[in-house]
Amino acid sequence: SAAALGYSVIPIVNKLQDIFSQLGSSSTIELPQVAVVGSQSSGKSSVLEALVGRDFLPRGSDICTRRPLVLQLLQTKKKADGSEEEYGEFLHLPGKRFYDFSEIRREIQAETVREAGGNKGVSDKQIRLKIYSPNVLDITLVDLPGITKVPVGDQPSDIEARIRTMILSYIKHPSCLILAVTPANSDLVNSDALQIAGNADPDGYRTIGVITKLDIMDRGTDARNFLLGKVIPLRLGYVGVVNRSQEDIMLNRSIKDALIAEEKFFRSRPVYNGLADRCGVPQLAKKLNQILVQHIKAVLPGLKSRISTALDGQSALLLDILSKYSEAFSSMVEGKNEEMSTVELSGGARIHYIFQSIFV
Ligand code: GDP
Ligand code: MG
Repeated sequence: SAAALGYSVIPIVNKLQDIFSQLGSSSTIELPQVAVVGSQSSGKSSVLEALVGRDFLPRGSDICTRRPLVLQLLQTKKKADGSEEEYGEFLHLPGKRFYDFSEIRREIQAETVREAGGNKGVSDKQIRLKIYSPNVLDITLVDLPGITKVPVGDQPSDIEARIRTMILSYIKHPSCLILAVTPANSDLVNSDALQIAGNADPDGYRTIGVITKLDIMDRGTDARNFLLGKVIPLRLGYVGVVNRSQEDIMLNRSIKDALIAEEKFFRSRPVYNGLADRCGVPQLAKKLNQILVQHIKAVLPGLKSRISTALDGQSALLLDILSKYSEAFSSMVEGKNEEMSTVELSGGARIHYIFQSIFV
């Protein structure tokens, strides 16, 4: 799978979940939601799809995302024979498994029409989709309709205000990470994405700037100053990406090919040399991973106390082990090399620590 998001966080989260299940505790790590915001056709759905590494979202030059799509990724174990099974299931079609991801896209389109009609209407009623796969981490991504200014089709005259309210209802939550998507061929100072993200997160603690369409900027211009934060500074910074064009979509170009083309694009443009950590979907995934690891670090002490109150007797030992685990995290975040050790617990239970460099 080409899944880029969570690639390096998965083993850590897995290990922690394993530890909790060995201890007989169902304590899990709740990862923050990630929502994409921006103007219509800025490339929001394209960015989410590239992060998940599967083709399944409606994309296009017209208004495609007309209802919020809450996409819950759920990690499953590989089957005993080592084979992998990936499928989707919609809340509105319980029990029906979609193994074909282009069918998932068709169902999103059909369900959009059922609720919001066939003529560009927008609805705030969610579509909820779960994707089960061994290659994802348990995280929720939200694809949102883009901000539009001029009502078309069945849209009411106050469409812009309605969409803004809808977007804010998701991104106002302090635990929501915001991907603020702005196309490079428009003016960053007029970015709807940065403007609405700034309303919800004025200090920029949870907003990542994403600049799309670097490939179709005006001749003679480039996004270097955007990416360097010289136009609008952003605490967590920017990542520039090149997604598939409308033509690529019509030609059915795969995500894998698109990632290769993106890499080639950046390699062949001297102006982006030296900005490698701000260029490309894999870098965006890496940035998200780093933020998720920080989040896990931040919630560890809470998990520790939950476990110590849940389990009597062993709690002193457990506390000790978990503090060691916290230390292990710090060294992981600082990028130490891989090393595994096992600690014996009373009753023969064993806990594995994995110390590995997570940012490969
Ligand atoms: P959304 O409305 O923000 O979700 O945008 P979509 O992801 O649906 O993309 C809108 C259109 O822009 C589609 O035709 C995409 O193929 C195209 N697009 C998105 N990102 C890029 C990009 O980086 N480069 C190019 N050339 N086209 C892009
Ligand atoms: Mg969209």
